[in-house]
Amino acid sequence: MLHEIAPRSGVAFTLDKGQRLTVIDPRGEQVADLLAFSRADTNEVISSGRTLDYASRIYLTTPDPLYSNRSNIMLRIVHDTVGRHDFLLTPCSKDTFRIIYGDKEPHRGCFGNLAAALEPYGILPDQIPVAFNLFMNVPVDAVTGELKVLPPLSKAGDHIVLEAETDLIIGLTACSALQSNNGSFKPIHYRID
Ligand SMILES: [Zn+2]
Repeated sequence: MLHEIAPRSGVAFTLDKGQRLTVIDPRGEQVADLLAFSRADTNEVISSGRTLDYASRIYLTTPDPLYSNRSNIMLRIVHDTVGRHDFLLTPCSKDTFRIIYGDKEPHRGCFGNLAAALEPYGILPDQIPVAFNLFMNVPVDAVTGELKVLPPLSKAGDHIVLEAETDLIIGLTACSALQSNNGSFKPIHYRID
């Protein structure tokens, strides 16, 4: 069954060991922030630092594993039609929109959407780590380290498939930041097999 995440919103759901999560960008140029928590202990969370350290690369794709803060593999990328995702930046939030965009009444962003969706699972906002930002295009200057948030490379129908290596709670959004999504807010589709 195909699920739709409405523009600027987010969901949470369980993913069992061995199940595959397919995340689809139905219209192109739309980011989806992904979080994973261990169902056995929600203090075990997806870790950008561990994953990038062990990969020795910042751009992840098939067949890279995504590690937890306890160095266990939570998910593995088993299929990827884009090959450009970001694992450096935190979910966009009220503060992102206040600080970067100067918004007076900022949207709660992916962070607020994830916090609300994860609350029924007993996960607190302070437990939310750096998300694996599917389709987000953040190149880094090799000399200065300067980051740029550029339009995603994903075209309509592009997708990534992640397989769970343990029982998980997943948080997933259709990202709310203009810059990350080339200026417009679009839905995200996902499927569990
Ligand atoms: Zn976002």
